[in-house]
Amino acid sequence: MYNQCILNTYKRVDLVAESGSGCWLLDTKGNKYLDMVAGVAVNSLGHCHPAITDTIKKQAEKLLHVSNIYWTKEQGLLAEKLITLSDHKGVFFCNSGSEAVEGALKAARKYGKTRSRVKQKIICFNNSFHGRTMGSLSVTAQKKYQEQFEPLLGDVITCEFNNIESVKNKTLEDVCAIIVEPIQGEGGVLSSTQEFMESLKTLCIENDILLIFDEVQCGIGRLGTFYAYETFRVIPDIVCMAKGLGGGLPLGAFMVSEKADVLTFGDHGSTFGGNPLVSAVGKSVVDIISESLFLIDVKKKGEYLKTQLNQMKKRYSCIKDVRGTGLMLGIELDKGSKDIIEKAFKENLLIIGAGENIIRIVPPLTISYEEIDIFIQKFEKALC
Ligand code: PLP
Repeated sequence: MYNQCILNTYKRVDLVAESGSGCWLLDTKGNKYLDMVAGVAVNSLGHCHPAITDTIKKQAEKLLHVSNIYWTKEQGLLAEKLITLSDHKGVFFCNSGSEAVEGALKAARKYGKTRSRVKQKIICFNNSFHGRTMGSLSVTAQKKYQEQFEPLLGDVITCEFNNIESVKNKTLEDVCAIIVEPIQGEGGVLSSTQEFMESLKTLCIENDILLIFDEVQCGIGRLGTFYAYETFRVIPDIVCMAKGLGGGLPLGAFMVSEKADVLTFGDHGSTFGGNPLVSAVGKSVVDIISESLFLIDVKKKGEYLKTQLNQMKKRYSCIKDVRGTGLMLGIELDKGSKDIIEKAFKENLLIIGAGENIIRIVPPLTISYEEIDIFIQKFEKALC
């Protein structure tokens, strides 16, 4: 059915998903898998968390959708919560990470126009991933994603990640924005250095440039702080988010500072963005994740998991590096990750790659210590 009716754009694993609970996913054959993929960092509270399920049930009986030409309490409450937790002024809701990036790029271009006629260039970094729509793809500086779809958006400059000199070398007066992932996800779980983040911020202030953080994968509690920018203590002008925000429903957003608050009536819109159903669920998710004890727990579990993996690294020479923060970890191997991912699958363990030789670990933030231990046992078997 799939082969006949669905475009062949995904390489799928031999699993027909049926149901899920917490960190566990069940297939139609009754197999139970430990899910360390979590819909690629989406199921932030695990599968079928009672708070999400209850909210969906209640909201579904009340109101699913209205046009954004009307107000809803649900969207207002989610916005208020996100803004209260942030250093920002306002938020726009959309449906995905790519759309959040698109909106941020539009705000950046408009900001540039308010400053000077030529201020329209956007800087991104090699190895980045910001999405697959034409705008977000244009700042995704990886040939394999871009090549077949050129020409892309103009006036995009690629600099070297974690190399501030490569940014300083450019003519910055024409630049309206710099977009960066605090931790590159798809690119291989590569973290920005603290120095790089701080230098970017300084450069942006000195050259009247908006700093955009793409927190689509690393935000919403994944690093042990609610926003990823809090981990680096560097406040960007625009924050893009999605994935974990909706806990499994399609919800994206970008949030702007006072300075980046340039979009006005008619500049941007979305049919579904922030409808009452996704907003009600988003609010339930954010209420839980933003609790300080929850975030401390994410940090501690991340450290525990990283320690276990580092111990494993001493025993297995095929592990070259263990990196990442909170519950966004990467295991770099001395070879392609495909074999190990397949062997893990035979152990009923779901893991996913990032780049060629990196295994990415992005479990539900609700994972327990016991489940982390089960992961370690299964992963060790896959390595043998
Ligand atoms: N930005 C980052 C950092 C991502 O990791 C992703 C998806 O993996 C996106 C943007 C695109 O998000 P979406 O697939 O929801 O459009």
